[in-house]
Amino acid sequence: MTPMGLAPVDIVVEDETIVWVGVDCDPSEGDMVVDLAGLYVLPGFVDMHTHLHLRVGQYSVADDFQTGTAAALAGGTTTVVEYVTPDPGETFTSALDRWRRVSEKSRADYAFHVCIPRVTDDVLDELPGLIRQGITGFKVFLAYPDRLMLSTAEIGRVMSVVGPAGGVVFVHAEDGVEVERLRAEAVSMGRKAPIEHARTRPARTEVEAVSLILDLVEKTRCPTVVVHVSCGETMELLAEARSRGLPVFGETCPHYLWLTERQLLRPFEEAIHYICSPPIRTASDAMKLWDGLCTGVLQFVATDHCPFFSEARNSADSFDKVPNGISGIGARFNLTFAGGLYSGRFGMERLAHVLSTHPAMICGLYPRKGVIAPGADADLVVVDPFGRTDLGEEPLAGACDFNPWEGIEAPGRLLAVMGRGEWLWREHDLSAKPGRGRFQERRRLSHNLLAHLLGKDMAWIFCP
Ligand SMILES: [Zn+2]
Repeated sequence: MTPMGLAPVDIVVEDETIVWVGVDCDPSEGDMVVDLAGLYVLPGFVDMHTHLHLRVGQYSVADDFQTGTAAALAGGTTTVVEYVTPDPGETFTSALDRWRRVSEKSRADYAFHVCIPRVTDDVLDELPGLIRQGITGFKVFLAYPDRLMLSTAEIGRVMSVVGPAGGVVFVHAEDGVEVERLRAEAVSMGRKAPIEHARTRPARTEVEAVSLILDLVEKTRCPTVVVHVSCGETMELLAEARSRGLPVFGETCPHYLWLTERQLLRPFEEAIHYICSPPIRTASDAMKLWDGLCTGVLQFVATDHCPFFSEARNSADSFDKVPNGISGIGARFNLTFAGGLYSGRFGMERLAHVLSTHPAMICGLYPRKGVIAPGADADLVVVDPFGRTDLGEEPLAGACDFNPWEGIEAPGRLLAVMGRGEWLWREHDLSAKPGRGRFQERRRLSHNLLAHLLGKDMAWIFCP
């Protein structure tokens, strides 16, 4: 998988870097030669949406940088992009210090987005400085009125600073006010079952929020990603906006592609493990999301990996008390391979785009990440398309005592994963040590990359 697409090539790696890609390489005496005939080599995957250090109320997420990146690497993800979420009243500097400390244990390379829980002149003044520090992604929420929700006017102000400074805004698009109204109504009527989580966050609350965001993108022209797109109608809005040339992109996650709200009808103590926001929806929504990945309306598959231990979940007696989030950091390749390539929806190139190249581009990591070309980091994933993978196996499943993918034997197998020139994972053997991961400074989004992601420039871009 090269900048020109799939090709039978030799790849030469020196130290941490790819130095040559071509045919009929003549190895020198002492070079290590690995014959990968019959297999595919893809650029290391980039998961642009993880939560490996997050408290929600009194509970912390189940995986930390050590266990989460073990699962990530076993699933071919050599770079994670983590959301730094300041506590109420906490400064960006303090939150970033906290995340820098815990990410020292990372086995995979990592970068940060920063969540913006409130908007003041001082906060806006800080954003260009963060971009200069290599943190170019900023998350805003239309949901969670008690903690994180911003008004559309505030989000507009963020966009008008971030866009011109070369950053990207990532949006959690759910109409938080309407969701809160529906939740309060359900609770007051004694409706506490997990399925109420989906009923109180209906598709229209996502659609409404996305259309508000599209108006802001139209006004500010700020490159914007709608994260964890969960329903078919959203895609119609995104497609229409893209056809008008708006710089708006869509991310979805394995759980929206593969799970349906029927999981929320299971017995309480099982169903609560499937509570995430936005909620998992219908089979018809999932089909439309797959269509969106095929047609390019959606550009990224990320995991929003955010599982909580059973202990944290079981303490709740009602859907609205359950910490939200689901696991997927290790399973992303197999689940995307299964529904994409194995099901005949798309080929190996698009698989590499949605798992690696496009996330690397929007996150400002390209062309160091996301491509197999001279000058790029030697992050390589060796794929056996005819192998199979047990998604319950260690360390793929992560540290959580509940894994929604347990018991699934998925098509496709990763035989080996290299990160910056070092074999980190080979057939049941994880050799990546905690702490080998390195912070990745992100570049500003260039006009070239933006045009490419918008599909205006179909030629491959390589600008080392
Ligand atoms: Zn998230």
